[in-house]
Amino acid sequence: TREWQLAARPHGEPKPEDFRLVEVEHPDPVEGQVVVRMLAMSVDPYMRGRMNAGKSYAAAWEVDETMQGGAIGRVVESHSADVPVGALVSTNAGWRDVAVLDARTVQVLPELPGIPPSYHLGVLGMPGLTAWAGLFRLAEFKAGDVVFVSGAAGAVGSIVGQLARLHGAAAVIGSAGTPEKVRWLTEELGFTAAFDYHDGPVAKLLAQAAPDGIDVYFDNVGGEHLEAAIGAFNEFGRGALCGAISSYNATEPAPGPRNMGLMVGRKLSLRGFIVSDHADMRAEFIEKVTPLVTSGELVVRETVREGLDQAVPAFLDLLRGGNTGKMIVKLADD
Ligand code: NDP
Repeated sequence: TREWQLAARPHGEPKPEDFRLVEVEHPDPVEGQVVVRMLAMSVDPYMRGRMNAGKSYAAAWEVDETMQGGAIGRVVESHSADVPVGALVSTNAGWRDVAVLDARTVQVLPELPGIPPSYHLGVLGMPGLTAWAGLFRLAEFKAGDVVFVSGAAGAVGSIVGQLARLHGAAAVIGSAGTPEKVRWLTEELGFTAAFDYHDGPVAKLLAQAAPDGIDVYFDNVGGEHLEAAIGAFNEFGRGALCGAISSYNATEPAPGPRNMGLMVGRKLSLRGFIVSDHADMRAEFIEKVTPLVTSGELVVRETVREGLDQAVPAFLDLLRGGNTGKMIVKLADD
């Protein structure tokens, strides 16, 4: 079997040489273990933090060791009564094509007709729950709010914007990095307005797209976007701070928003969060979002790369905006 290892810790933007694909013999499974053949693995922006030494919110990957991450697979051999052969499972053993795992570390997934297994890495998985918790719990979204989401054409952002629209937002504004993504947001996802953040100062583009100001900001990007959102907030505006991808490759601390003083007079709140603290919302999220996916009311898009050898190119491309919707690495046919 093949596995990706971290070869070196990057300074700034990661390079292909920071990773290494190795052939390994996996151990024979023992009692309590299962052998999982991976169908799809996830590459996610938070993995950039795991390449650094020291703790981000997820543990650092070790140099010369196999990397980890979300993956969906089929159990092909089982030595556990709880996880039968044939079960579809969610694991944290991505970046490899086969894994021998303690059965207690895998979650058996329901077989949902019409739902590809990879959706458990996106809309019905971690990014989907991030969108749900961030919008409804952290930003306390309510019908009638004007919502702005950055990184709007990505895995999390594309769901945030659609959930807001489906739940009665007065307007949904998105920003993204290419004209094609901007068109996708307005023409297919039903965003009220969208802009390419390369087209000028974000504050100016946001003011044009949201002339009456915003009530909720879902921040995937940080930096200039966050400053622009603070400037555009109406009274009692709420921001869910989900990520700051504009600074993930930075080698110096990024400057903060210069307009924090507005927070007092406008009575704003900004709340950072990590999805794993909101697992209590998972059941409600799955119950509400699954029918929206099956009915097509929620548009789901993936950018799919084929084969384990494409995992690192897919990850590097994700950090540069090469994905629309969720970036997925397909490892095997189901
Ligand atoms: P995406 O699918 O959105 O992919 C990342 C996107 O970031 C790229 O497609 C690119 O799109 C955009 N991007 C890259 N560089 C920049 C930049 N300098 N400025 C603006 N945009 C940039 O990833 P996810 O949906 O998985 O994650 C979105 C955000 O949410 C990330 O910040 C991530 O870290 C965070 N996150 C946080 C979680 C939490 O628990 N708090 C959980 C999951 C995700 P474009 O072409 O538009 O530039």
